[in-house]
Amino acid sequence: MKRIVVVGASLCGLRALETLRSEGYAGELVAIGEEPVLPYDRPPLSKQFLKGEWEEDKIALRAQGVEDLSVEWRLGERAERLDAAGRAVVLASGERVPYDAVLLATGSVARQLPIAGDRSGIHLLRHLAHARVLREELARAARVTVVGAGFIGTEVAASCHERGLEVTLVEPLAAPLIRALGPTLGDLVADRFREEGVDLRLGVGVAGFEGPGRVEAVRLADGKTLPTDLVIVGIGVRPATDWLADSGLDVTDGVLCDATGATALPGVFAAGDVARWAAPGGGPARRHEHWTHAVEQGVHVARRILHGSSEGLGLVPYVWSDLFEMRIAIAGEPAADDTMHVAHGSLEERCFLALFGRDDRLVGAGAFRRSRQLHPARRLIAEGASFADAVAANG
Ligand SMILES: Cc1cc2nc3c(=O)[nH]c(=O)nc-3n(C[C@H](O)[C@H](O)[C@H](O)COP(=O)(O)OP(=O)(O)OC[C@H]3O[C@@H](n4cnc5c(N)ncnc54)[C@H](O)[C@@H]3O)c2cc1C
Repeated sequence: MKRIVVVGASLCGLRALETLRSEGYAGELVAIGEEPVLPYDRPPLSKQFLKGEWEEDKIALRAQGVEDLSVEWRLGERAERLDAAGRAVVLASGERVPYDAVLLATGSVARQLPIAGDRSGIHLLRHLAHARVLREELARAARVTVVGAGFIGTEVAASCHERGLEVTLVEPLAAPLIRALGPTLGDLVADRFREEGVDLRLGVGVAGFEGPGRVEAVRLADGKTLPTDLVIVGIGVRPATDWLADSGLDVTDGVLCDATGATALPGVFAAGDVARWAAPGGGPARRHEHWTHAVEQGVHVARRILHGSSEGLGLVPYVWSDLFEMRIAIAGEPAADDTMHVAHGSLEERCFLALFGRDDRLVGAGAFRRSRQLHPARRLIAEGASFADAVAANG
């Protein structure tokens, strides 16, 4: 294979490029990325970078530089189209970049509230460029409203509070992080925010924004109005597949792939946030939006491209988040009505490992300030352990 092209020069793409080189690929590598910067790490954008504790040099994904990878970096260039029949990626300039194999790793796009309109002061947080602007505006603000209490929204709210801002966090569901953690652990997170004096508005949505050109207040569905200097919207992401609309690929909720990252088109692979991979041995294809999957899939698909191996990647979902002093980590997919068993520590101390069971299977685990103990639990989920065995193993 003479030339491999990676579209999306970020976490998953970089891990794939590194694996291709470390496993002996000596042909041409081209990386196309619309952001005008070398790959960087997104998690600190809502944490250390937003708080002002880290600068940009600390978030580079490859601290030692990228020269040894011998990649042709096409940064600040957007892929507009995939011409799968002609085996080329078409750039916004019209230039065609030919490939023998292409990896689509274009990640996600942050969702905006349609009612935001074109008012200024309403921010999203996905890219470094967003974080730079947001950090500058936070330096001049006193009151901030965060919309959405998922991973990004809660982290941004905690970071803004730690910067000394007055923070209101608005969430239509009953607790922060409730989708990922369920109601009991979601309530623990809510308590921690309240202890800090963050104004939590739960069970209520945003009805509109006020202010002539720039946002001055948020109108809630319960009729209340929150004066604010700026708004940060964290209501989830969608896969970055717009540019693939006429590619012939199935892009329903992400680029559909088999369990190795191969699509239905020859020489076309996808991985990371943008991809929806089948589970090995059947089961519905799933898209994940977390750091660890982007890394694991990037490495796996690179081997698939290079060695043609048909072995599928079995993934147990894993995500971490940092809120105040709490590192929260979750494996598997706990649901609201699962049985929960608290092992190692206690809810009162907010330091524990919780196991979640369904139909006597271990289906999830959540750790507050105990992330090391989560990894064995993640392995047990992968092995299909029974809930009783998992509880006994963590007795
Ligand atoms: C603020 C923030 C905090 C996070 N914190 C955590 C965390 O604590 N824990 C966790 O597990 N996960 C976290 N995540 C999620 C994690 O960062 C992502 O899952 C991961 O970055 C996905 O990697 P990726 O390479 O698939 O996509 P991305 O990192 O999104 O990279 C895709 C790249 O492709 C580029 N691109 C898109 N379309 C095109 C195109 N048409 N042409 C060229 N380039 C294109 C994009 O600009 C981007 O640079 C966080 C994400 C954010 C935004």
